[in-house]
Amino acid sequence: MRSDLFTSLISGPCSAETLSQVLKTAEGLKGLPLSYFRAGIWKPRTQPGAFEGIGDEGLSWLVSVREQFGFPICTEVATAEHVKAAAAHQLDMVWIGARSTVNPFTVQEIAEALQGTGIPVMVKNPVNPDLKLWLGAIERLERHQVKVIGAIHRGFSVYQKTKYRNNPHWQIAIDFKQARPDIPLIMDPSHIGGRAALIAPLAQQALDLHYDGLMVETHCTPAAALTDAKQQISPSELQELLNILEPRTPNDRILHDLSELRDKMSLIDASLIELLQERMELSLQIGAFKRSHNTHILQVQRWEETLKANVEKGINTGLSPEFAEQFIKMLHEESIRIQLGLLTNKSDEA
Ligand code: PEP
Ligand code: MN
Repeated sequence: MRSDLFTSLISGPCSAETLSQVLKTAEGLKGLPLSYFRAGIWKPRTQPGAFEGIGDEGLSWLVSVREQFGFPICTEVATAEHVKAAAAHQLDMVWIGARSTVNPFTVQEIAEALQGTGIPVMVKNPVNPDLKLWLGAIERLERHQVKVIGAIHRGFSVYQKTKYRNNPHWQIAIDFKQARPDIPLIMDPSHIGGRAALIAPLAQQALDLHYDGLMVETHCTPAAALTDAKQQISPSELQELLNILEPRTPNDRILHDLSELRDKMSLIDASLIELLQERMELSLQIGAFKRSHNTHILQVQRWEETLKANVEKGINTGLSPEFAEQFIKMLHEESIRIQLGLLTNKSDEA
């Protein structure tokens, strides 16, 4: 891997299945600058009856990987017992999975068990799109003197079938970076994408969005994996992927040249805000007029015409139909709110 890509790279199988599978996978990763070799020992399965992880025995397999290949090793912990077992094998890092981050009792139990062990911890985002829960889990660890903490963006559960297994909700990751610029944020394209084919574009996106690293699931024979077979890639596929990624380096000259375009964009943003304010002022007048003439606030026909005409106009100028529609609907919704006399104020915030 080129040194200008990421500061951390974590890879290894979704689950430790057999000693030979773990060692073969590590063998394939030899030569890559892994920060950690990963493997799930206790697997949080959505439904019972499937492979639920090899259990404590797998920890000694990870220790063999460290001894034979020199990779630091890590696994997921979900209970105080797991933390004790991980500490007993001197694991170099543990991570808290998405199904645990969601539960403050679980995080509390893990934080208490970790206190005094000195083990670094990475916290995956919770399964539901709740930034505060993610930040809260990190704060619980900090309150128990966990000093080395990282975060993993693995996407959020969705009911509908989408392109991704877990919806990335990029804005949450951006908000996370803003709230905790001191915590390294890495991306887990395997669990976001859910398919091997999506790992490369997501990894490139991780570079474009300035993530600090990647956690990618690799398996010596992905098709035969006992868990997450569709999204695991072979170690050599990971090597190839790292070779095709385009690095993004901060460059002062480029940033300077960019500032002209950014200034223009800021001017447009300022004008947009002013125009929106003027539009809302008109909504207020229209609302008052309708009320004084006892007429309905919502005029469905006028709304349908306005929506159709503006979406068409937007599409003709090159906007995406989804964006054009969403934007006009948002404007209309806000206008209705204003006409109903529901002006934004602090009491609106639940
Ligand atoms: C995993 O990393 O194998 C895992 C179970 O992840 P998540 O908690 O993101 O589902
Ligand atoms: Mn997995």
